[in-house]
Amino acid sequence: MHVHTTFSSDSTVQPKTLVEQLVADNFIKVAAVTDHDTVEGCGVTRQLASAYPDILIIPGVEISTPSGDIVILGSEELPPKPWFVEGVVDFAKERDCVSVVAHPYREYGMGDLARNSRVDAIEVVNGYASPSANKLAQDLARIMGLPGVAGSDAHQPSDLCTVYTEIQASLDVDDILRAIKKGWVRVPPIRKSIRF
Ligand SMILES: [Zn+2]
Repeated sequence: MHVHTTFSSDSTVQPKTLVEQLVADNFIKVAAVTDHDTVEGCGVTRQLASAYPDILIIPGVEISTPSGDIVILGSEELPPKPWFVEGVVDFAKERDCVSVVAHPYREYGMGDLARNSRVDAIEVVNGYASPSANKLAQDLARIMGLPGVAGSDAHQPSDLCTVYTEIQASLDVDDILRAIKKGWVRVPPIRKSIRF
């Protein structure tokens, strides 16, 4: 639910590489493209993915707010500036998108500020966060009564599919977004150890 392509200045994951990975993987068939503050990569990646009926790209974006990063799932548009948490979350709600607090207890995370937000979900496992930071994120989701999702936060091809979210939904963006909001999700233990 959280992948960066080369449309993020700090990622080396080509859209083609992400699509090839999903095609090759026997298990993970969906990925959300969530570049930093741009939705340009979504369209390119979705176009490439459209050749394969058994994979799906969820459009999204990771917005840098002064309070921390927020992932919007389901939007191919950017929220209007200025990018403060409340406006970004409202933008997502108005469009039936899903807003997610990314890596709350890692660098660029919202930390306890997330408790005052009206987000839809918490990223309880982030591929670039330490186990203790992920544990705090899991506690936060429980305290707030919100669904938890996992994101590799991949910035290089070897990061792809290191973590995943199980979602009870069909291979359809709207159905997946609905299922996340309803909490029909489960985050299994980390698939392969990457950083920690
Ligand atoms: Zn990220």
